[in-house]
Amino acid sequence: MMNPYASRLADWRAHGLARDLRPLGGPQGPLLAVAQEHFLAFCSSDYLGLANEPRVREAAHEALERYGFGAGASALVCGYYALVAELEATLAEWLGQPRALVFSSGYAAHVGTIPALVDQETAVFSDALNHASMIDGVRLARPGQLSVFPHNDLVALEAALQGCSLPYRWILTEGVFSMDGDQAPLAGMVALAEQYDAWILLDDAHGLGVLGEQGRGSMSHQGVTSSRVLHMATLGKAMGTAGAFVAGDADIIEWIAQRARTHMFSTALPPMVAGATHVALKLLRHEEWRRKNLQQLGQQLQQGLMSTGLALQPSQSAIHPLILGDNPRAMAAAAWLRAQGLWVAAIRPPSVPMGTSRLRISLSARHTPEQVEQLIEGLKQWQESEHV
Ligand SMILES: *Cc1c(COP(=O)(O)O)cnc(C)c1O
Repeated sequence: MMNPYASRLADWRAHGLARDLRPLGGPQGPLLAVAQEHFLAFCSSDYLGLANEPRVREAAHEALERYGFGAGASALVCGYYALVAELEATLAEWLGQPRALVFSSGYAAHVGTIPALVDQETAVFSDALNHASMIDGVRLARPGQLSVFPHNDLVALEAALQGCSLPYRWILTEGVFSMDGDQAPLAGMVALAEQYDAWILLDDAHGLGVLGEQGRGSMSHQGVTSSRVLHMATLGKAMGTAGAFVAGDADIIEWIAQRARTHMFSTALPPMVAGATHVALKLLRHEEWRRKNLQQLGQQLQQGLMSTGLALQPSQSAIHPLILGDNPRAMAAAAWLRAQGLWVAAIRPPSVPMGTSRLRISLSARHTPEQVEQLIEGLKQWQESEHV
């Protein structure tokens, strides 16, 4: 029997697209334990250093003692815990939204929420760089019309809205884009949503905790408020735990709770995760030093590479991409750095468009200025090694 996947795999590898799964032997943090080695890592989305924070671990232990581990059923059957209900209330209050609903992951949130909201009478306007989970949600929803507009291009978005004759419209965007670290122009987008009677689904996976007052995210950072925005974010990035939520208009959230299939047909979040997230959220809101560190380290990195010809994309987030072009170059850079004990992720298609393979440098509040300096030096040496 010919196995067609063997030749597909060979092709995949030949194009430099194969990924390695590297098993970790310790917690998230600036130093990652891989097999017998330790790497100084700039690849995690644990932006605030909460994933292994002692007070979060303690809260998880307490909830574990009280509730055990598994949720046992979907939220609508008998897996909905008071801890989750309280977490939803706290998230909603924090973000100034009428209601929030928790999902077991961000991916599940999108592939459940988008088909619950979008049907044949609905047009979807989606930024070209949106995350795969939103794209898959739209595929499942099969909207009456789908317009993918060029990244952050409000002129193109308006033209698409103008040409739309369907009664319902959703604009889909990230707050901070996951592979570029740049931000959506939210004020302009909200203005268009008002003018053309559309709603906005804002995926703030990388804005939450990092930007805005008390870490409320991109809307707060840009000083924009609107009741037309449905906020979505994962709890697995800056929050340091797991799961995700959508927050917004009470009727929309109730409709999602009733109809999202990943809410109905998937086991609910373990109560221990909700317990840990309560404390993580408290720290994320009130420990301003974490955001301050992140900003200072970001500036140090950007300035440190300014004069080298290795121009990072400008970024106020924790994500600082260095676009290198083709796959082999990005792979070689990552491998070279790894040999120096520095772990930076090489990001290739289909995560990013062809020809824009990159090193995606992500910082954490727990990095030290000395560690960032080590990365700057490593990158400079890699650059020299390329030219000999
Ligand atoms: C990580 C991520 C998600 C998915 O969230 P998970 O909780 O990891 O499933 C969604 N959107 C963006 C932009 C992300 O980076």
